[in-house]
Amino acid sequence: MTGQTRPDRGDRWLPSRLHALRPSSRKSPLGRRLSVGAIVVSLALAGVGTASFAEAAAKKATKKTTAQTTAAKKAAAAKKAAAAKKAAAAKKAAAAKKAAAAKKAAAAKKAAVAKAAAARPAVPTKPITLQILSINDFHGYLEPPSGQITTSSGLVDAGGGEYLATQLNDLRNGNPYSVTAGVGDFTGGSSALSAKYLDEPSIEAAKALKVEVSSVGNHEFDAGLSELLRMQYGGCNPSKGCFGGSTFSGASFPYLAGNVLYKSGVTPKPPAGAKTYGSWYSARTGRTVFPSTWVKTVGGYKVGFVGLTLKDSGAHVKNSDGIKDITFVDEVSTSKLAVADLRASGVKTIIGLIHEGGTTPTPDYDFTCQDGKVLSGRIAELAKELDPGIDVILSGHSHQAFSCSIPDPSGQPRIVSAGSAFGRLITETTMTLDPKTQDVVRSSVKSKNHIVTRDGSKDAAMTAVLKKWQNLG
Ligand SMILES: [Zn+2]
Repeated sequence: MTGQTRPDRGDRWLPSRLHALRPSSRKSPLGRRLSVGAIVVSLALAGVGTASFAEAAAKKATKKTTAQTTAAKKAAAAKKAAAAKKAAAAKKAAAAKKAAAAKKAAAAKKAAVAKAAAARPAVPTKPITLQILSINDFHGYLEPPSGQITTSSGLVDAGGGEYLATQLNDLRNGNPYSVTAGVGDFTGGSSALSAKYLDEPSIEAAKALKVEVSSVGNHEFDAGLSELLRMQYGGCNPSKGCFGGSTFSGASFPYLAGNVLYKSGVTPKPPAGAKTYGSWYSARTGRTVFPSTWVKTVGGYKVGFVGLTLKDSGAHVKNSDGIKDITFVDEVSTSKLAVADLRASGVKTIIGLIHEGGTTPTPDYDFTCQDGKVLSGRIAELAKELDPGIDVILSGHSHQAFSCSIPDPSGQPRIVSAGSAFGRLITETTMTLDPKTQDVVRSSVKSKNHIVTRDGSKDAAMTAVLKKWQNLG
């Protein structure tokens, strides 16, 4: 081992190259201890320890500040995100609102267009067959009435609301251009059942019969004007109240009364439930208790109805106090005003619903003024005088049955008909409407009575009305 420096104990395991780099390692253990102490003291003197604490504190503070900054940053980010989210939601809601509004506007526009189209029906280009089904003097006979109908082969039981409703439906079948009308005395002078409940059953029966319009008759005034207005507009009788606990809803059809006016000096009292009562008053036609006319568009044709009652109606009403505010005026002059009103609205096809009677020489339900037999009575006179704009005269009051052609004031043939009473007959009148004139082809008008026999089925809607009132006891 000559030539090699023997390493001291502390370094003997160190390779010689490392040993060269660490001269202090050559010091004795005591020397090394002294050296370490000197470093610690010198570090302490130099304030290294103090500096370390301050630094740590600062570092801690910095760390805290950083943490705060981070939290603030995080909060700001969250706030920003929330605001963005809110803005997005608001934008989305606004867009949805806008879309809904646009959709609503489009729907409204579409509805308006459809409404306008309905209000201005296309001018018809083809002739149609108009069917008018009429009932006069029903007098509340929901239940089958007594009495019979006269035919060439004998007497026949007839009538009863349930059979009447079924047969009206049967007659409507195959006739798309059909209107059902009443010709007065639907109420008043009524059956026991209808009278007991102040004719509310009769008005409900009219709904089941699908009556669309009716003139008033003298009997409509039997219980006074206020009760007639209640029949039209509904409500309960002031002294007897609501039957069966429910409020009477009133007629489903409009009453027409062109020649029934409020007397001058009387202030008409709008009935409860009638929002636009009197909207039809005019300087020409005056203040009528109900409108003079009603128009329905059928197959593109405007079909007008004029409703009148006999001018002597007041003389038939026993309780004159109930009609003290009104007056019945001339049918002929009123017919002229009513027709002029309809003409002004472009209506050419006009049906007269005139509650005035005629008398036949024989009681047959199908009397037709043939073979020299003539119709007498006031309606036969009126038929010669009522405005020629009226194409057909449907009548009543005398409870007789007939269908006669009597020339109108312009010399044109015009049918005047009536169908007995108590729902025993249905009068069916058909006519061709001409697209060129929008009017009735007079020569085409046919009117005949059908017997309401009791061999058919009962109408469920009418049975329900009947049962309702019968069950009230
Ligand atoms: Zn009458």
